[in-house]
Amino acid sequence: MENAAENCLHLKGLRVVPGSRFQCPVCNVCLDLEGVERWVRAAEKSRDGAYSIVEGDEFVQIMRDEWQREVYRRRKVLYELRNVPRAAIARPEMILISYDVAQEAYECRIFYKEPRPVWGADRISVEAALDAILALRWHPDPNVRLASNKAEEFHTLRLRLVEQNALPPPRRVFYQNEF
Ligand SMILES: [Zn+2]
Repeated sequence: MENAAENCLHLKGLRVVPGSRFQCPVCNVCLDLEGVERWVRAAEKSRDGAYSIVEGDEFVQIMRDEWQREVYRRRKVLYELRNVPRAAIARPEMILISYDVAQEAYECRIFYKEPRPVWGADRISVEAALDAILALRWHPDPNVRLASNKAEEFHTLRLRLVEQNALPPPRRVFYQNEF
């Protein structure tokens, strides 16, 4: 399965699936935006490799052209995914953040008014560390960015209470008026 996905060129492109992920209809692999970016970079690397071959016989030339075309094709897929209309993203109704002691992570659940939008994460987990939380601010899904803001708020509150030797709450619900 892993290998099938690795060998697949995702020739039919990738489609948006719930949770801000992109799926290949052929091998069913599910990538996040970073995964798609890595997939583009892999083609760029192969193309650069083909260009670094000094002896340029006809075969090498064909290989270079093919990799260049592949780079363009993958970039096009990436640009299209980046441009999925953001207007289609609904605002959540409520965000629930719970602290998972065992994992030392925040579990963020994003609730929408039904039906849940195609584009939109409903559950993310983030390490209970400021760096990890802040890294989500560049996430393509604005609702994940919103959840990261709320996780940061909750994280700050928890740390403050721990400092004061008070017991921090295990969870916190944020409603729409707090977004
Ligand atoms: Zn595929």
